[in-house]
Amino acid sequence: MKKLVIPFLFCTLLVSCNTERSARSGDSIDSRVDSVLKLMTVEEKAGQLTLYTSDWDVTGPSIRAGYQEDIKAGKVGAVFNAYGAKYTRQLQEIAVKETRLGIPLLFGYDVIHGHKTIFPIPIGEASSWDLEAIERSARVAAEEASADGLHWTFAPMVDISRDPRWGRVMEGAGEDTYLGSLIGAARVKGFQGNGISEINSVAACVKHFAAYGASQAGRDYHTVDMSDRVLREVYLPPYKAAVDAGAATVMTSFNELDGTPATANKYLMDDILRKEWGFQGFVVTDYTSIMEMLNHGNVADSAEAAAATIKSGVDMDMQAGFFQYELPQLVKDGKVSEAELNTAVRRVLRIKFQMGLFDDPYRYSDEQREKSTIGKPEFKEASRDVARKSIVLLKNNGVLPLSKSVKTIALIGPLGKSRLDMIGAWSAAGKGDSAVSIFDGIRAKVSPSTRVLYAKGCNVNDDSTKYFGEAVSLARQADIVIMSVGEAAWMSGEASSRGILDLPGAQQKLVEEIHKTGKPVVVLLSNGRPLTIPWIDKNIPAVVETWYLGTQAGHAIADVLFGDYNPSGKLPVTFPYSVGQVPIFYSAKNTGRPRDPNNKYSSKYLDIPNDPLYPFGYGLSYTTFEYGEVNLSAGEVSANQNLSVTCRITNSGSLSGTETVQLYIRDMVGSVTRPLKELKGFQQVKLGPGEFKDVVFTLTPEDLSFYRKDMTFGPEAGRFKVFVGPNSRDVKEGEFELTDAPKMEFQVKAMKKDL
Ligand code: BGC
Repeated sequence: MKKLVIPFLFCTLLVSCNTERSARSGDSIDSRVDSVLKLMTVEEKAGQLTLYTSDWDVTGPSIRAGYQEDIKAGKVGAVFNAYGAKYTRQLQEIAVKETRLGIPLLFGYDVIHGHKTIFPIPIGEASSWDLEAIERSARVAAEEASADGLHWTFAPMVDISRDPRWGRVMEGAGEDTYLGSLIGAARVKGFQGNGISEINSVAACVKHFAAYGASQAGRDYHTVDMSDRVLREVYLPPYKAAVDAGAATVMTSFNELDGTPATANKYLMDDILRKEWGFQGFVVTDYTSIMEMLNHGNVADSAEAAAATIKSGVDMDMQAGFFQYELPQLVKDGKVSEAELNTAVRRVLRIKFQMGLFDDPYRYSDEQREKSTIGKPEFKEASRDVARKSIVLLKNNGVLPLSKSVKTIALIGPLGKSRLDMIGAWSAAGKGDSAVSIFDGIRAKVSPSTRVLYAKGCNVNDDSTKYFGEAVSLARQADIVIMSVGEAAWMSGEASSRGILDLPGAQQKLVEEIHKTGKPVVVLLSNGRPLTIPWIDKNIPAVVETWYLGTQAGHAIADVLFGDYNPSGKLPVTFPYSVGQVPIFYSAKNTGRPRDPNNKYSSKYLDIPNDPLYPFGYGLSYTTFEYGEVNLSAGEVSANQNLSVTCRITNSGSLSGTETVQLYIRDMVGSVTRPLKELKGFQQVKLGPGEFKDVVFTLTPEDLSFYRKDMTFGPEAGRFKVFVGPNSRDVKEGEFELTDAPKMEFQVKAMKKDL
C-alpha cells in the first residue's frame, strides 16, 4: 500500500481540538481513535497489539531479532526495554516517519523501584507503612522515567505473597490484602500523578493478574489453584484497588488459575476486570505468556493460543509475536471477528491519545529534560528518606544505636562493600556503582578518628571458609562488629525461588565464628525475602533488616545504626522460624484442632514451633511504646453504624520515635470460617519521650464484611473481637456485638464463573 504523505498530520487534522487537555479526554479521544482505526489494515491492527523488547536488557528469552524492521513494517505497537531520550526518539522516528500511518510507539519498561535514582525494593518500602513516602517514590520514578523517553511502567506488582520461597516476594507489598491494597493504590497514584496526559507521568501497569503470588510450593511460574472465595477475598482486592486508583493498564500473570492460564482467562479479564470493576484501559500479557500456553496444554497451536487470548479480553501480546502472526489469518478465517480485533486496538490507541503521543510523539524524548531531571538532589533525598523508613529493627539488646566516636568498628561480611547488591533486583536503569555501600555510609557517618576496618569473611553463596581467619582477627581488634550478610541481589526477583531460606553459603558459620570472639555484634541483613535466622535471633544482640535500600542504602543504614534516625519499619510479611512452616501468614484460620501442647492430636509439628520467628507487623524502635486498653464507643452496633476504637499509646522510652499502631479484627462466628486476625487499619504516630496520644480508628460495616456462604459480600451479625497493637501478635483486645446485618447496599453479588 502506498505511503501517506505526512501521516501524522492527518491524524490530528481529522478531528481538530482546541486545547491539549480536551484532545486527551473523553469523546474527543474516542472519535479520534475511530478515525485512525478506520484507516488501518488488519495487519496494522495486529501490529498495534504487539509489544517487542528492544535488544537491551532482555529479561527472558528474546525470540525475535531485527525488531526495527518490524517497526518499519507497522508490525509493532509498543517497545520495551528501550529508554533514553535520544534512543527512544530514533525508534519513534521510524514509527512516525517510515510506517504507512505513522502511529507512534508506546515505550514501556520495568520501572519497579525507581528508574535511575533507585529506591528500596518494594517489600522494603512496604515495611515503611508510609503511604505518602511510597507514593513519592513512585512519583520520582515517573519523573525520571518520563524524562528518559518512557511512557509506561510495568508496575506496581500487587501479588499477595505468602510463600517466601518465591523470589518475587521482593517485588510486592507482602502478605496482607489490606496493606497491599493501599500500597498498590499509592504506587499507581505516584506513577500516574495528575493523570497520564501529564508529561511527567507514566502509565501504570498492575501486575500480575491474577494470583501469581500463590504459585504452588513457591516455585516460580508454577500452577495456582484456589477457591473463588480466597481469590476474591485475599488475592483480588489489591488489583482492584490499583484499578480504582486509575491504573491505565493491567498485565496478565504466567500462572494458570483453576485450569485456565491467566493469559486466556475470560473469567479474570472480562468478567471480573472489565465487567465487575469497569476497567477501561488495556491488558498486556506477560513475557511470551501466550506462547507458554502451548506448554500449559490448554491450546494446541499458536493460532488457537492467539484466538483464546484475544477472546478472553487481552489486548496486547508481549514478545510472543502470536498476535502479529496469527490474528490476520484468524480474522480471515472468521475465527476472530474484526470487531474483537477493533475492541483491543481501540483500547491501545486510546492510551496513546491520552498520553498526547498523537499530538507530539516525541514529547517524552527530550534530551534537555532528561539532563535536567534525572538524578536531582531532591530525588536522592526522597530515596534516603524512604530507605530509612524501610529498615526494620528485629532485635536490640541495647547495643544500638552506636556512638559515632567509637574507636574501632569492624565491618564483616560479603555485602559490606557491595554497591550493586544495594540496588536490589529489578533496578531498572539504576547503576550499582552510583549506590552508597554500607562501608561508605558508615565511614561518612562516624568521627574522623574512628577506624572502620573491613573483611569480607566469605562469599555470599559458596561454602568456602578460607577468609574466616582474617575476619576473626579483624573482629578481635574492634570495639564493635557490624556484620553485613544476606542474599546477593540476584537471589530474589523473577526465577529466583529458593527451597532453603537460611543465609546462603558459609555466612551462618561466619556469624557463629565472629560471635565466638565475644565482641558485641550487630547483624545487618540484606535480602529480598524473609529468611530463617533463629540462631541469629537467639545469639546476636542486635539484628536489623535492611532489604535492599537503593541508591542511598549505605547512608540510610548509617542513619539508623548511629541514631540519626530512630527505626520505625514494620514487617509486611511474616518471618518463619523454619521453611517447614511455609506458607505462613498471620491471618490464618483457627482449624478444628488449634494447637494444644498437651494434645498430640492437635494442629502442630513434632519438630518445629507453630509460631513464626517474627510476626507480621513486627518491628522495634530505640524507644518503647506502651499500649493502653482498647476502648470501644459501644458494646453493640447495629446495621450501618460505625464503631470507634480508641487506644492510648505512650512513648515510655527516652527518645522520640514513630510507631505504627495496628488495628485487627476477628469475626468470631461466620457462615464460613474467618481468619484469626485481619488488619483493618493502621496509623503512624510520632511521639516524644513521655508523650502519649489517643489513637482513634473507625470501623465501618464494610470493614466487617466478607464473602459469605452464598458469596454475597457483607457482614454478619454476631460477636467480633478487636485488637490493637504494635504487631499482629502482641495486641490488646476488646469485643463488641453486631446486632444485625446492614442493608444490602454494598452486597455485590459475585459473578458466576463463565470460563
Ligand atoms: C516479568 C514481568 C515483566 C516482564 C517484562 C516478565 O518476565 O514477569 O513482571 O514486566 O518480564 O520485563
